[in-house]
Amino acid sequence: MRILVTGGAGFLGSHLIDRLMEAGHDVICLDNYFTGHRRNVQQWIGHPKFELIRHDITEPIRLEVDQIYHLACPASPIHYQYNPVKTIKTNVMGTMNMLGLAKRVKARFFLASTSEVYGDPDVHPQPEDYRGNVNPIGIRSCYDEGKRVAETLAFDYHRQNGVDIRVVRIFNTYGPRMLENDGRVVSNFIVQALRGEPLTVYGDGSQTRSFCYASDLIEGFIRLMNSEHTGPINIGNPGEYTILELAQTIQGMINPDAELIYKPLPQDDPKQRQPDITKAKTLLGWEPTVQLQEGLKQTIAYFRDRIEAE
Ligand code: NAD
Ligand code: UDP
Repeated sequence: MRILVTGGAGFLGSHLIDRLMEAGHDVICLDNYFTGHRRNVQQWIGHPKFELIRHDITEPIRLEVDQIYHLACPASPIHYQYNPVKTIKTNVMGTMNMLGLAKRVKARFFLASTSEVYGDPDVHPQPEDYRGNVNPIGIRSCYDEGKRVAETLAFDYHRQNGVDIRVVRIFNTYGPRMLENDGRVVSNFIVQALRGEPLTVYGDGSQTRSFCYASDLIEGFIRLMNSEHTGPINIGNPGEYTILELAQTIQGMINPDAELIYKPLPQDDPKQRQPDITKAKTLLGWEPTVQLQEGLKQTIAYFRDRIEAE
């Protein structure tokens, strides 16, 4: 199959491309390199089945493909808040352009949505039919509401134009190829501990998150794309930790003498988050296999190499 991956030079997109290339597909990676990097897909550059296109999805593009994995959008709060209007354009105009492409060439369209559509949830853990608690005018809304509109667009193109869609709601995912300055908690804590800097815990560290390793997530993507279910389907690891527990785990694995310092909690920071993965288990036969300690070990090894190469 010929498969387009938008945001393919990013963290998750590049892991997905590895899997698709290894399976023998023709892959087009499309990215504007805002938070992605050519080095993430370096091993495929020059391969006859791989094509790299520098393009911003807020502009339309004409391509002939069978499947579209639509991941292009900054995912870390510091990056999506850097230019919030651009984040909304990417989610709304960008998703509309990619759905328009899917409609024209009759490609199956996969949307990378997010657990952020649940906002600061008052139902715990979060099942797919929970409609969320999102602040429409807060500093996270360019991303949260942007993704909610992206989901709406996907379902409207499906109902109105018969576009074949798949929607995944991704919970916090980590692994090699996150950016060192990404701002997300796992990469921040690892890079800080490796550099001998204090680990920055926001608030009192009692807020929770559930961390999924990248390879588990990508397996879920591929199963959903090739299933008969439109979704939305949660993909994430239900193992829930407080941010303080995560800091202490990483401290223990890298440098037990590393200091923990407390910084103000960002506005609208969700207090808790854990996926209900009943649907993924029953409909896709999917569940995560990589334990936090093991995933952290791999991620630490990656950042150690990158920091040593600096
Ligand atoms: P990332 O920032 O590494 O990847 C996003 C990619 O999209 C980057 O390569 C970036 O350059 C590209 N991009 C951004 N705006 C673009 C535009 N206008 N045109 C073309 N390319 C553009 O982030 P990631 O963690 O790999 O996230 C991938 C997708 O998964 C995103 O849609 C994100 O919202 C979603 N997601 C990720 C997580 C997570 O924990 N990693 C959680 C929920 C949802
Ligand atoms: N966080 C933290 N220290 C950091 C970065 C993040 O304590 O250096 C916290 C953040 O406030 C949030 C959690 O870790 O409660 C997860 O943050 P991240 O940005 O990784 O993801 P999101 O908030 O989007 O789930």
